[in-house]
Amino acid sequence: MISQPTYFEAQQWAFSYVAAHGGYREDATWLLRAPHEWDATALLVHLQETMPVTEWHQYQVNVQRVCTGWPPQQLVGKAPFFGRWFTVTEDTLIPRVETGDLVEWLLADYPGSAPKQVVDIGTGSGNIGITLKLAHPEWQVTLTDISPRAARVARLNARQLGAVVSVTVGDLTAPLTGQYDVLVMNPPYIAMTEQSQMDISVRKHEPVRALFAPENGLAVYRQLAKEVFRILSPHGRIYLEIGWHQGEAVRQLFEGQFPAAQVTVRQDEAGHDRMVRVCL
Ligand code: GLN
Repeated sequence: MISQPTYFEAQQWAFSYVAAHGGYREDATWLLRAPHEWDATALLVHLQETMPVTEWHQYQVNVQRVCTGWPPQQLVGKAPFFGRWFTVTEDTLIPRVETGDLVEWLLADYPGSAPKQVVDIGTGSGNIGITLKLAHPEWQVTLTDISPRAARVARLNARQLGAVVSVTVGDLTAPLTGQYDVLVMNPPYIAMTEQSQMDISVRKHEPVRALFAPENGLAVYRQLAKEVFRILSPHGRIYLEIGWHQGEAVRQLFEGQFPAAQVTVRQDEAGHDRMVRVCL
């Protein structure tokens, strides 16, 4: 094997490795780009450069691991979300593109620059709350997570990305004392029974409690609907990501607790239920 390949040669090696070991070419390319936060064009620009030796060694290890089911984002320790790179570890869910749609919905609803109290519950890497704070520096944003290790990653991301937010640890609304205008959450919503159908990279490597919930995936919505009155301001709003068949069930849970609320379910590009907004 070449001791110091160009990025092009390294990629050629990786393509044949993934072909022989059941991996994906996209992962091989992503693992080459991500350490530098290069997009596809930037990679083209650098293809003929020589890869530093340590990077080449790490790349080979990462390509081998990705073929055994490791998520590439955990191998390089970061993932893109809404145009920025967030540190991720095995303690945080890897941010998904669809979660960006929830952020977009919320931002479109608040085009002005009025100060707001905002809370991102189950923040994980902090991707949602930090993105909101960077879009609206005048908002007071709180991030919270049940996992102290996830909260540590969220704090790190906030610092790295220059977002001044407060981070707390606890179960759902328990650590919160304020009155919030906006609550956003991407809760665990996958039914326990669906565990076996998930991709191995998700099942083996992403945090279980970030993904799965009892009661057919509805337990966290139910608990939130019961608790949330304590921390929401009178005209507060809730933005939630949901599973593709959960729109009606989540609507009923919130309408049950807040009969006067206006509940809107939105679909993703594939036409599946993907998010819910509750306006008190
Ligand atoms: N808020 C994070 C995200 O949306 C983590 C969510 C979670 O852990 N369920 O990606």
